[in-house]
Amino acid sequence: MAMLPQEISERLYKNVYVCMKCNARIRTNKPHRTKCRKCGSKQLRAVKKGMKLKK
Ligand SMILES: [Zn+2]
Repeated sequence: MAMLPQEISERLYKNVYVCMKCNARIRTNKPHRTKCRKCGSKQLRAVKKGMKLKK
């Protein structure tokens, strides 16, 4: 299955946010109405492009 690099980064970063309290990754298309499922914080930020993911 061939995927373009652009496709891959879209999958990784599109609609993905990170909790500013516990750094949990949360996938949502409504970041303003979403709470972190781990700690319940509403402080989410977009994932930085180019940030390496933990393996
Ligand atoms: Zn959290």
